[in-house]
This record gives sequence, structure tokens and C-alpha cells, in this order.
Amino acid sequence: MDKTLTHAQIEAAVKEAYQECKDITGGKNADYIPFLANIDPNLFGLSVTLPDGTTFNIGDTDYKFGIESVSKVLTAILILKQHGAEAVLKQIGADATGLPFNSIFAILLENDHPSTPLVNAGAITACSMVNPKGDSWGKWEAIINNITALCGSESEVIDELYKSESETNFNNRAISWLLKNYNRIYDDVDMSLDLYTRQCSVGITASQLSICAATIANRGFNPVTKTQVFDPQLAPKITTLISSVGFYQNTGDWLYTSGIPAKSGVGGGVLGVLPGVMGIAAFAPPLDPAGNSVKAQAAIKAVMKKLDLGVFNGDRVTVTA
Ligand code: GLU
Repeated sequence: MDKTLTHAQIEAAVKEAYQECKDITGGKNADYIPFLANIDPNLFGLSVTLPDGTTFNIGDTDYKFGIESVSKVLTAILILKQHGAEAVLKQIGADATGLPFNSIFAILLENDHPSTPLVNAGAITACSMVNPKGDSWGKWEAIINNITALCGSESEVIDELYKSESETNFNNRAISWLLKNYNRIYDDVDMSLDLYTRQCSVGITASQLSICAATIANRGFNPVTKTQVFDPQLAPKITTLISSVGFYQNTGDWLYTSGIPAKSGVGGGVLGVLPGVMGIAAFAPPLDPAGNSVKAQAAIKAVMKKLDLGVFNGDRVTVTA
């Protein structure tokens, strides 16, 4: 069906969803990273960016929180740009693990590749693939510049979070060395893990994430900075990765109930991509047992429901002012 949505309708849906979800309780801040345990659990922001660059922000959309696993999407885009879709499939994979984000078991089950760049194992491998090879500083510049280009403005590492993660990332160290054992780390192991830890510690706002989501929804064209950040051909590849594993072992339930491919992070952020229609991001620290923000999930679902949108609805959606 053809379907037209106006800016006013979308703005109203964002405001209503925020009001309906702001008092939701439940969930718990991530506490395996000490810094995250101490973030105010009442923070809550919701942001939508449209293909023409219009953004609707409500709540704490300027608060810089830890991007955590959402960074995996951004660095996956970087290695897709640097190496192409075929190489990423060959060197990492594009399969859901059906297991938690930090699963070692998943690597043992598929000992010939790390499954997907959107779980810890594949994301550490992705960092090992970033060019220029062997140059830690050059690789970091590539990662952070890519984040800036996708989000439309600069961001930086939250030092305290980086320190907190680096001091406690024993499971990720085990993952890195296990991957090395399977020849799936393509640069120095410690350097690759450190880059991964650093990218997870970047402070980002919900508003920046919704611009990034809109850039993916817009086939690589950032609607705010008006620049083509990546090849349009890569957009369906990245949305496929998000669709298949964005919520880890709960991805099927998420897509079934929300209708939008989305990626979550243990910092409480969620980035959702509705190709051709909008980018959406929500942030609230308390997480469900699988590590996904309780309020952010509810808010994004509410927006989708109010606008009767869904990636599999088969509608041709036009957004007009
Ligand atoms: N830095 C976190 C970790 O490696 C990210 C996990 C996540 O957000 O899912 O455990």
C-alpha cells in the first residue's frame, strides 16, 4: 500500500511514545562494567531523524552515554567500506549466533569464523581488519572519523568508562586469544582488543545515534551534513546484519514485536533503521536480562505502532513536510 506520513504525525508519535514510556520501571543498569552501574537510571531520551534531515528530539537526547555495542554497527560499516561486502562475509561472517553478545561458546561452535561483526568476537575481529594495518593510532583515527561522519558531529572517548572496561574485560581477552587461535585476528591481538574497548567507550548522544541511523536508512547519505558517507550498495548489507543479530539471542522476538531492525548496547542505547523512512534512537540505562534497554525498546515499539510502520509491512512510505 502507499502510505504518506507528515512531519506533524511523526513528531506527535515521538512525543506520545516518550510520555507513555517515561515512567516505565524495570530492568537494571549493566554492572559488569563498574562505570555503567553508576549512571543515573532515570535518564531517558528519544530521537527520530528523517531522510530530509529533520530531527525530533525529546528528553535526554544531548546526554553522552557509552555507545558500547552500538559501535559495532559503525565499525562494521568502516570495514565494509575498506574491504567490501564479500571480504567481510569471508573473514567474519553474517550469521546470528543465537547466543549472548559475549559468548565464547559461539566461537567454539563455529570455530572457523566469528559469525558476525555485531557480536563481541566479530567486533574484535572487525577492529583487527581496520586499515592502516599495524598502526594503532591510524586505525583509531579511521574508527573515530567514521563515527563522526555517520553521526554528523564529533564524539570522544569517556576516559573513565574506557578505564573501567579495560580493567574488567577478562572475557573479551579470552575471546580475542581464542580467535587468534583460529587465525581470525588479522592484526596484533592486544591492539585489536584495545581498539574495540576504546570504541565501546565513546560517549554518544541519542540525537547523534538517530542521525547515524538515518544515514543507514538513507543508503549512506547523511541527511544532516549532506554527505555520502558510504556506498549505497552497502546499506542493505548493514541493515541485514542489524536485523539478524541486533538484539543477540532476543533478535527474533524483537523484530517480530517491533517491526524495525535495531541494535542495542549495554550503555542503554538502541539504534533503529527503517530503510527509506527514518532513523530512530532511544536511550535509558536499565537493561533486561539479555542486555537490552527496557525503556528504549518500549519507546521505539510505541513509535512504530503509532505510525503503523514495519519493515515487512510492504508499504511504500512517503514522508512529507
Ligand atoms: N563493551 C561491552 C562488552 O564488550 C559491550 C557489550 C554490549 O554493549 O553488548 O562487553
